[in-house]
Amino acid sequence: MALIFDIEKFAVHDGPGIRTVVFLKGCPLHCPWCHNPESHSFEPELLFDATKCVGCRRCSAVCPQACHAFGEDGQHHIDRKRCLHCGRCTEVCPVGALEIVGKPMTVPQVMEEVLADKVFYDHSGGGVTISGGEPLAHFDFTRELLTACKQAGLHTCVETSGYAPWTQIEPLIPLVDLWLWDVKAPPELHEALVGEPYAPIVENLRWLDAAGAPTALRCPLIPGVNDSDEALLAIVNLANSLNHLQQIALEPYHPLGEGKNAKLGKKEFYQAPFPAEETKAHWREFLAQRVQVPVK
Ligand code: SF4
Ligand code: SF4
Ligand code: SF4
Repeated sequence: MALIFDIEKFAVHDGPGIRTVVFLKGCPLHCPWCHNPESHSFEPELLFDATKCVGCRRCSAVCPQACHAFGEDGQHHIDRKRCLHCGRCTEVCPVGALEIVGKPMTVPQVMEEVLADKVFYDHSGGGVTISGGEPLAHFDFTRELLTACKQAGLHTCVETSGYAPWTQIEPLIPLVDLWLWDVKAPPELHEALVGEPYAPIVENLRWLDAAGAPTALRCPLIPGVNDSDEALLAIVNLANSLNHLQQIALEPYHPLGEGKNAKLGKKEFYQAPFPAEETKAHWREFLAQRVQVPVK
């Protein structure tokens, strides 16, 4: 059993072909630009969309924990620390302003959803991608799900930050067809930006490569943060040191997580300038001229 926060069907950016992406909730890193801030906590969470709320107070009437309160100006406040995630308020809200994110699911339950689209995987060269959050932080579940996918003849990808003990990576090697490995920041900035050190992640990647495992690097590029020529050269050097790298995928900054952050009651979200088309073209060209694999 694991907490799943989304199962995305017909995905085309998370590995080859048409895929189903299974998102596991919980991540040891805290990238400030994360698209999925609802994936950070290992617990269920209550989302509240203030733009939908009509102030009817039905949520307040059913909450056993008195989490919902209304100020004199009618403003709706939620004490999330008291919330038991029972879901009662979500059931009575007439406008869908409340939602519990994080659903416990077993491997057979996930497989039932995954197998419903097998015909699309078969025709497109697609399959299943396990993402997050951090799949390796749910090692037992991830291994069990990958095993079930392989038994069903499905192509598998794992999208990971790589921040996990090697003992939770090595056993998965025979079960993963392609590792989608994040490269978030150069060594000197990594810990300050995302909260954990660079060295163990790169060490894991080198061991994975030495074991012959196919990888694709995924590089979030944040203008003014990790897109200097020095930072891009660090990606080049890493890429050129790997024997089984198949591709580099650039992920230009986008504030997709901002709205979700607000729904979680988190005030701050990382703000960076939108990368211009010329900037994105420069990143792509810079890398493509220096590495031996396709840059997308
Ligand atoms: S999920 Fe349950 S405990 Fe949490 S705010 Fe809603 S009713 Fe209250
Ligand atoms: S039930 Fe929904 S619309 Fe009514 S006050 Fe609560 S959140 Fe707002
Ligand atoms: S590793 Fe991925 S899921 Fe975790 S915080 Fe960073 S971007 Fe978000």
